[in-house]
Amino acid sequence: MTKADGELLRARGLRVTQGRLAVLDVLEQRPHADAESVHRTLAAQGHDTSVQSVHNVLGDLTAAGIVRRFAPARSAARYERRIDDNHHHAVCSRCGRIDDVDCVVGEAPCLHADAPTGFTVLAAEVTFVGICATCAQTQILDTKRSDT
Ligand SMILES: [Zn+2]
Ligand SMILES: [Zn+2]
Ligand SMILES: [Zn+2]
Repeated sequence: MTKADGELLRARGLRVTQGRLAVLDVLEQRPHADAESVHRTLAAQGHDTSVQSVHNVLGDLTAAGIVRRFAPARSAARYERRIDDNHHHAVCSRCGRIDDVDCVVGEAPCLHADAPTGFTVLAAEVTFVGICATCAQTQILDTKRSDT
């Protein structure tokens, strides 16, 4: 994995550093992580790094097109390695769980808006907001409990 990641970094013109490899590794395990939780994971693994340097690494990886950044409403920016398929996200408004939703078109832009004259649509960032299965289940149980 690490060897392939090193080649990936080089192919995109980035120097191979332990920090970049470590962040890619965390995102492999934990898609949709934010910078804080990437940092927490690295610290737990014994890496000596700061939140700021994690932010810098994520910025570099995003700019190089290796990592995709998206920002759900009222939440910190999330990062993931699943790129180039224009997939969307379903965000649970209760617990914040994020799931991938395949794009039926598979490439951007998959939605066309009645955009202002002269505006070129490059992408439509779609976020589905709702209640995840776990939270829906909890809700049903809570309702039953209050009935009795
Ligand atoms: Zn939920
Ligand atoms: Zn995703
Ligand atoms: Zn789509």
